[in-house]
Amino acid sequence: MFFASLKLSPALTDLLEKEGYVRPTPIQKRLIPVLLDGQNAIASAQTGSGKTLAYLLPALQQINPEAEKVTHHYPRLFILSPTKELAQQIYEVSRPFVNALNLNVVLLQGGGRRTVETERLKKGVDVIIATPQRALEHIEAQHIDIKAIRHLVVDEADMMFDMGFVGYLEKIFTMMTERSQKIIVSATITPRVIKLAKTYIKPLKRIEL
Ligand code: AMP
Repeated sequence: MFFASLKLSPALTDLLEKEGYVRPTPIQKRLIPVLLDGQNAIASAQTGSGKTLAYLLPALQQINPEAEKVTHHYPRLFILSPTKELAQQIYEVSRPFVNALNLNVVLLQGGGRRTVETERLKKGVDVIIATPQRALEHIEAQHIDIKAIRHLVVDEADMMFDMGFVGYLEKIFTMMTERSQKIIVSATITPRVIKLAKTYIKPLKRIEL
């Protein structure tokens, strides 16, 4: 099976080929069609499974395909990661795709320079990758137009609990518009992860490999 059979756009399948990706991984085969269909999802996936592209590509496909013609970029895809290291990895995997589509991405993380982040946000971004506490700081300072966001991803949800970040996530979930697509990815889908998902995400498609 190749990426083209997942109904990804020619622009994205060409990019995948150029970046050396040949065949979708199991999580990509399962999650990409569900997300392209606009559904919310909770998926079990380990680091190394190809989960980043599984949630990134469908969102990028749905972001304005003629981004080079727009005068301001609004945040459409919001990815939350529990650690700076994972946020950095997500950034590295996503950058070639985001750049090739003329979209803007910013990484917001504890320890990062807040003023530099704020400037980037003010210039306009399509994709935000952030740790939860820093994300919430920028939302509360109104540097992020949260109502503009169409796709929210919570990555490593089980680790979010371990690190005590769930309060931040709950605040962010309650601020999201009802119609935004919500995606939770977790190495293991534990009862507390399910409870979080069921509280804030309806309806919800569950994908376990
Ligand atoms: P992730 O699970 O998102 O952390 O991805 C781990 C690594 O797998 C990253 O370096 C990706 O570039 C790579 N990767 C993702 N999808 C594929 C694929 N379909 N084929 C080969 N490598 C992939």
